[in-house]
Amino acid sequence: MEKTSTSVWNSCLEIIKDNIPAQSFKTWFEPISALRLEGNVLTIQVPSLFFYEWLEEHYVGLLRKTVKKQLGENGRLEYNIVVEKSSKNIPYTTNMPSNGNGAEGKRQSIPVPVSLNKDIKNPFVIPGLKKLQVDPQLNQNYTFDNFIEGDCNRLARSAGYAVASKPGGTSFNPLMIYGGVGLGKTHLAQAIGNEVKRNMPDKLVIYVSCEKFCQQFVDSLKNNTINDFVNFYQAMDVIIMDDVHNFAGKDKTQDIFFHIFNHLHQSGKQIILTSDKAPKDLAGLEERLLSRFKWGLSADMQVPDLETRMAILKKKMYADGIDLPYEVVEYVANNIDNNVRELEGAMVSLLAQATLNKKEIDLNLAKSMLKNFIKNSHKEISIDYIQKLVCEYFEVPVEMVKSKTRKREIVQARQISMYLAKNHTKTSLKSIGAFFGGRDHSTVIYACQTVEDLIDTDKKFKAYVQDIQKKLKMS
Ligand code: ADP
Ligand code: MG
Repeated sequence: MEKTSTSVWNSCLEIIKDNIPAQSFKTWFEPISALRLEGNVLTIQVPSLFFYEWLEEHYVGLLRKTVKKQLGENGRLEYNIVVEKSSKNIPYTTNMPSNGNGAEGKRQSIPVPVSLNKDIKNPFVIPGLKKLQVDPQLNQNYTFDNFIEGDCNRLARSAGYAVASKPGGTSFNPLMIYGGVGLGKTHLAQAIGNEVKRNMPDKLVIYVSCEKFCQQFVDSLKNNTINDFVNFYQAMDVIIMDDVHNFAGKDKTQDIFFHIFNHLHQSGKQIILTSDKAPKDLAGLEERLLSRFKWGLSADMQVPDLETRMAILKKKMYADGIDLPYEVVEYVANNIDNNVRELEGAMVSLLAQATLNKKEIDLNLAKSMLKNFIKNSHKEISIDYIQKLVCEYFEVPVEMVKSKTRKREIVQARQISMYLAKNHTKTSLKSIGAFFGGRDHSTVIYACQTVEDLIDTDKKFKAYVQDIQKKLKMS
């Protein structure tokens, strides 16, 4: 019986089917059709460039083997990629050796534009729209206007602003904003999106949390709509992905995002990422994706200082049309010092309780009302707070414990602070050192030993430390 493209491909499929999970077969091989057979070259048609890349990356070995089994040692596979808009197909050749001497056939790299005229299925679903229009999924309340600038976020904010004015046109691509919980990463990332939309309404902007993206990917696998899923994201001008640390352990989704990332980056589109850790500390992410994250700029968000916390509270009060006495605002800002979300939360709960009780809020009322709140928010004591407390106790300026000074009373305050930081926070010795003007971990170990020795031998010293510890627990 004479071989046809279909018969050869069907024989290949039988082998492939036995070698990969059913779901993968369904997703990646069922949509392929055999196009022609010329001599020992089999041409198959794949639905998109992305499909082709995926096959080459994940199944090239299997494809090579099966094609050779059917067509002999010189058997070759060529791809034909469907370009949706123009119906012009672009041939690709596999990087299989073409003449048995091991020389890799070169792959043509013709950029294939994703067509925007064809209906791209939008996982966020806006039915009935002809031209691709996308609800950017942004929260309008997060703007640059109401984002307070401080030392803690200056770099991230100004890089964000630069990106918003020229998406894809700066070297900050990707822009990675990282920092602890509740420090304004989402706010800033969304402010960039809102700013782009304000100045350039035609730009396609999408905000998506990493979790949602992962979920959409799983759904698209289930529904056999991977192509639509990838096409949608590849059509964007600006993608904002929040909390990329959630990619940890999700290898398949990382793979897909890697492709989307490359496509967007190559086409000069802007990528904005947020994460709770610096790229170098992100665990469970593929190295190749991580290295991409490091291409642009990583800007961290720190805990805001007192002045910035006050400014944030004032701005919030102004926006909500409320007025609290200065000393109350100061009290709240002073006592909730490690998380802006909790800061705002405390103020809201204060207001709510005051309305319920129909009382004016004065400092005493605030103190008693916020007791629980503050205790809770301090179950994790910050090093900043320890430094502040110790320095207040010994009446020395906080900057001094971070300086190089070897003055006796400063050294004492510094060592006690390090000791307390080790015993009352979960911070590593290395990070504790960093908080004290970039000292190394052996300095911290030495400080802790010194303090322990002195507690054993010096009654007065012991009383100091106990005193401070009491204050620490009360706060
Ligand atoms: P993250 O994403 O880092 O966990 P969010 O962006 O959700 O933090 O911020 C938590 C809350 O704090 C939000 O209501 C946000 O508006 C507010 N916030 C954080 N930083 C600032 C800031 N610099 N100025 C104004 N509001 C801020
Ligand atoms: Mg967030």
